[in-house]
Amino acid sequence: MINRRQMWSHTTCEIHEVPTGYVPAIEEGVEFYRADYRERVIEAIAFAIDKGEKFDFEAPLITAKGRECWVRSIGEAEFIDGRCIRIIGSIQDIHERKRMEERLKSVSDSIPGVIFQYILYPDGTDQFRYVSKGSIQLLGLTPEECMADSRLTWSQAAQGGEMERVKNSLDESAKTLNYWTCEWRVLTSQGKIQWREGLGKPVKKMDGTIVWDALIMDVTDRKNLESLLEQSTRMAKIGSWELDISKKPFRFNGSKTTGSILEISKTNGIVLDEILDRFVGSSRELARRSIQDLIQHGTGFDEELELIPGSGNRKWIRCIGQAQQVKGEIVSAVGSIQDIHERKLSELNLKSLLLERNTILESIGDGFFAIDRNYVVTYWNKQAEKLLNMPRENMVGKNLWEGLKKTQWYRFHDNFRDALESGNVFYFEDYLADFQSWFSISAFPSVSGLTVYFKDVTENKKAQEEIRQSNDRFERVSEATNDAIWDYQISEDKLYWGKGFTTLFGYDLKEVNPTWQLLIDLIHPQDRDRVVSTFHIAQTDPETSFWNEEYRFEKVDGTFAYVIDRAVFSRNETGSAVRVIGAISDITEQKKFEVSLKNLNKNLKKQASELAVSNAELEQFAYVASHDLQEPLRMVSSFLSQLDRKYRDKLDEKAQKYIHFAVDGATRMRQVILDLLEYSRIGKEEHDLERVNLEEVIFEVTQLQAQLIKKKKAKIRFEGITEITGFKSPILQVFQNLIGNALKYSKDDVPPVIDITCRDEKNHWLFSVKDNGIGIKEEYYNKIFIIFQRLHAKQEYTGTGLGLAIVKKIVDGLGGKIWLESEYSVGTTFYFTISKSTK
Ligand code: ADP
Repeated sequence: MINRRQMWSHTTCEIHEVPTGYVPAIEEGVEFYRADYRERVIEAIAFAIDKGEKFDFEAPLITAKGRECWVRSIGEAEFIDGRCIRIIGSIQDIHERKRMEERLKSVSDSIPGVIFQYILYPDGTDQFRYVSKGSIQLLGLTPEECMADSRLTWSQAAQGGEMERVKNSLDESAKTLNYWTCEWRVLTSQGKIQWREGLGKPVKKMDGTIVWDALIMDVTDRKNLESLLEQSTRMAKIGSWELDISKKPFRFNGSKTTGSILEISKTNGIVLDEILDRFVGSSRELARRSIQDLIQHGTGFDEELELIPGSGNRKWIRCIGQAQQVKGEIVSAVGSIQDIHERKLSELNLKSLLLERNTILESIGDGFFAIDRNYVVTYWNKQAEKLLNMPRENMVGKNLWEGLKKTQWYRFHDNFRDALESGNVFYFEDYLADFQSWFSISAFPSVSGLTVYFKDVTENKKAQEEIRQSNDRFERVSEATNDAIWDYQISEDKLYWGKGFTTLFGYDLKEVNPTWQLLIDLIHPQDRDRVVSTFHIAQTDPETSFWNEEYRFEKVDGTFAYVIDRAVFSRNETGSAVRVIGAISDITEQKKFEVSLKNLNKNLKKQASELAVSNAELEQFAYVASHDLQEPLRMVSSFLSQLDRKYRDKLDEKAQKYIHFAVDGATRMRQVILDLLEYSRIGKEEHDLERVNLEEVIFEVTQLQAQLIKKKKAKIRFEGITEITGFKSPILQVFQNLIGNALKYSKDDVPPVIDITCRDEKNHWLFSVKDNGIGIKEEYYNKIFIIFQRLHAKQEYTGTGLGLAIVKKIVDGLGGKIWLESEYSVGTTFYFTISKSTK
C-alpha cells in the first residue's frame, strides 16, 4: 500500500494471463474484474481495510487475453500503527465450478416448476433456499422474495385453500422421513383453478433440522386430462369389474357403470355363472372360454359379446379381461365392460350396407376403383381386374400410379390430380393402344378421395365408326348414282335429298328444304293419289320391304319428268317402318322411246296382218294359176306337137322354127308352173321326224343328176355329221337345188368340185355347199332369193328363177337361215341352218 504496487505470484500471473513477474499498480488489479463486479470488489476490499476483517468473494475476471475467468479471492489487510500497509491474499481459478453452477441454475430455472430447498428448523421456523426462477410462474414471487419470507411464500401457495393438506403431508414426511408427495389445488390471481404437485426427499440433520430438496410442478394439464378421462369413461359407458377367485363359486363384483350396463341393481358378489348365462348365441361359449383361459392361464381377452341384460333387450358389449399375477400365480381377474350396442348395430348395419355396395360394385359391368387422397387404392372391383389385367392384390393398399405406371393410364395422372384438387367430376374418352381399347372414364372426387368408373367402349366406338362410314358410303353412293336418292327418317319426319335432285330435276339443295310433304306435292296431280296410296299400303304392311311406282315428277322449271321410284323400308323389331330410302330414276327418254316403239309395233302388226292376207291371196292365186294353167298349156303343147309331127314336111324352115319356139316356150312355161306349184305347196305338207342320213341324201341327188355330173366330170364331196334327226324330203329338195345350181353355174373349162359339210352348232345344224363356179357379185346376194329373179338370160343358163326362192322358203320353214359368201368367177358357198327344235 506504501508503494501502491502489487506483487503477483507465478500462478496469479497465469490466472490473469500476464507474463510472470508482472507488477501491476494497486488500482490496476481491480481493473481486471468484469465491469459489473468492479464496484463490489472495491467495496469488499475497502470494507476489509476499514474494519480490518478478511474479505472473501467470487467474481469474474477478464484476463489480459480477454478471456472470462471466475475466481475466488480471499485476502486480509495488515496494519501498522492503525495504518494499512499491505493486503495479502490468494486467488483461485473457480471457473469450471462456476460454470457448472450456472448451468445447473439455468436448467432448474427452465424447468416447468420451481426447484427449491425447504428447511424446517427444530424450533418450528422454516426457510426457503435456492429457489429457482420457476417461482415467478408458479407462485407469482421472485426467488429472492420467496427466500426472504417463507410466510409470504406459504400464503401465496395457499390460495386454493388446501394448505392444511400440504402442511400435513410435509409433517408426515418429516416424521417418517418418507418421500414427500402431495397434490393440491390453487386459485390463480386470474381466478383460474390450477393443480400443483410437490415432490421432495427429506434429510434430517444432527440438530434435528430437516431439509427437503423439493420440486413443485404445475400439473393442471395432467389433472384436466385425468378428469376428462374419467368423464369420458362415464360417457363411454365403461364399467369395471373384478372377479374374486379366492374361493368357489367365483364371484363377480362390478362398478356402478357395470351395473347400469348389465341393467342389474346389485353389482357385488354375483355368482359368475349367473353373469355368463346372460350371454346369448355364440357369445355365451366365447365368454365362458375367455374367462376360463383368463383364470387358468392368465390369457387376457378383448371380445365383443352379445347378452340379454336385466331389461330383456339384447345388447352388445365389449368386455376386456386381464389377470393379475403375483409370482406367477393368478390372484384375481379384472376387466372393463363397455356398452357398444349403438356402435355395434351401426357397424353391423354398415357391414351389410358395405356388403350390399360391394355386391353392387362387383356385379356392375363397369370397372370401378377408389383411391384416397394419397392415391392409395382402397377398392378395385372384378371388372377392373379384368379390363386392366391387374389383380386386386396388386392394387389395393398400393399407390395407384405404382400399379399403373407401365400402362397408358399414366397419362390420366394430371386429370386425376385436377379432379382431386378442384373437386370437379371429370369425364373423358380415350383410346389406349396398350389395351387396344377405347375407355370411357368418369372420376368423382369426394372428401376421402376419388372414385373412378370406367368401361371398355371399343364396341360402341366401332359401331359409331361403322355408322359414320356407312353414312359416308351412303352419301357417296347417292352422289355416284344417276338417281335422285331420298332418305326419310319416319319417326323424326326428316327427309334427306341426294345430289340427284339437282342433276335430274334442277333443285338447288342449298335453297330447297326437302320435306316429305314437298316430295308429295311435286308428284303430278293425276298420279299423286295412286302413289300415296300404294306407298301407304307398303309402309303399313310389316312384311313389305320394297315399293316402286312410276309417276310424273315436277322439275324446277315446272315441266314433268317420267320417273320410276324404288324404295326400301327399314323396320324395327315390331315391324313398323322407321326409315325408308328411295331412288328416283328419270325415265322420260325411255318413256318417249316406249311410246314410239308402241306406235311402231302397232304399224308393224298392221303391216304383218296385211301381208298375211296378201300372202294367202298370192298362194291362192299361185295354186289356182298353176293348176288351171296346166290344162290349156298341155293342150297348146300337144296341138303344137301334132302340128310338128303331121305337117313338118309341108312347112317351110321358118314355120318349123316358129313351132319349135312355141313348143319350147310352152315347155318352159310348164316348168314355171310346176315350180310355182311346188313353191306354193311348201309348208303345206305334213312330214314326220326321222333319222336322216345325209350321205344317202347326197347320193340320191347325184343319182338324179348323174348325167350332168358325168358330162361335166364333176366331183361331189361330203364331210361332217352324217346323221341328223329331221324331215327328209325338204332337206333333199334343198340339196337338190343347191347342188343343181353348183353344177349349172360352173365355169366352162373347169370341172365342178362341190364340197358339202354339216356341223352341229348347239341349237341347230349348219350346212355349207361350196362350189368353184362363176361366183355371184355382192350386189345380188339378196336378189337371188326372190322368186323369178335371175341373173342370166335363158340362152346362157336355163332356169325359172324359183330354185333359191323355194330353198329359202323351206329353210325358213325349218326354223333356219340361208346366206352366202362368194367371189365373182372364183366360187360360191351357200350356208344354211336347220333348227334342232323344229316341230
Ligand atoms: P335358176 O332357175 O335361174 O337357176 P335359181 O333361183 O336357182 O334360178 O337361181 C337364181 C340365180 O342365181 C341364177 O339365175 C343364177 O344366176 C344365180 N345362181 C344360183 N346358184 C348359183 C351358183 N351356184 N353359182 C353362180 N350363180 C348362181
